[in-house]
Amino acid sequence: MPDHDALGTLNWLVEAGADEAIGEVAVNRLAAAAPPPQTVTAIKPVVPAPIAAKAIPQAVGDAVSNAQALASSANSLAELKAAMEGFDAGALKRGASNTVFADGTPAGRILFIGEAPGRDEDRSGKPFVGRAGQLLDKMLASIGLDRTRNAYITNVINWRPPDNRDPTPEEAAMCLPFLRRHIELADPLLIVLLGAVAGRHVMGISEGIMKSRGRWLEYRVGERMVPVMPTLHPAYLLRQPAHKKLAWRDLQAIAIRLESLGLPELSSQSN
Ligand code: URA
Repeated sequence: MPDHDALGTLNWLVEAGADEAIGEVAVNRLAAAAPPPQTVTAIKPVVPAPIAAKAIPQAVGDAVSNAQALASSANSLAELKAAMEGFDAGALKRGASNTVFADGTPAGRILFIGEAPGRDEDRSGKPFVGRAGQLLDKMLASIGLDRTRNAYITNVINWRPPDNRDPTPEEAAMCLPFLRRHIELADPLLIVLLGAVAGRHVMGISEGIMKSRGRWLEYRVGERMVPVMPTLHPAYLLRQPAHKKLAWRDLQAIAIRLESLGLPELSSQSN
């Protein structure tokens, strides 16, 4: 990792409360601090269901059906991206400069899902490239992840909502068929939900993120149940830095789970 990235990651760790000096003998603080992986859930496992188009206006219902047809006919991530670029997402898409599909390395099989692109993401066409994205990169680095090597990142919403307002339920309904297919095609072994919007739309979580974060859930992909961890959104952590320590706890649990899944050498990859 370049020196400036290492410093940023160190800053993140200190702000998250991991600020003890290292002793003469190395201590595996991940092993000491984190609870054993849980398989379980306070909320029922989620089996992706077709979206209930009747709860929403006809025009949106048509867009949702169209999204479902396009999404299900895509057989690769490249085809899905092309399908989304060709999809008519109405005013949401007309107000955006780019379709923000994903960034990172699906082969790492760790999927992070955020909310929606902001201004920087809209300009670049990539998720999490602004300030929140820079913090996300430090959070990833602190557990040995890096979008260029082993982490894959997308959002619930693929077009920037005007003025960064919250996405409407109709906008989410239009994007969800693409997200569900995106998850199937990326085939992750672990999913991290960044913030309440991702928690609500991917897992149907209705309680606040402060309650749902840090607890393992499960999401069905084909025949597999994939562990899912909701955690705090990096944009929220920029506004509430005191809560970085909670996100750090979640990241430690994620690192341990990744090790138990036989995924990358993780924390040992920091040089
Ligand atoms: N916030 C998100 O949820 N996604 C992005 O891509 C950027 C900021």
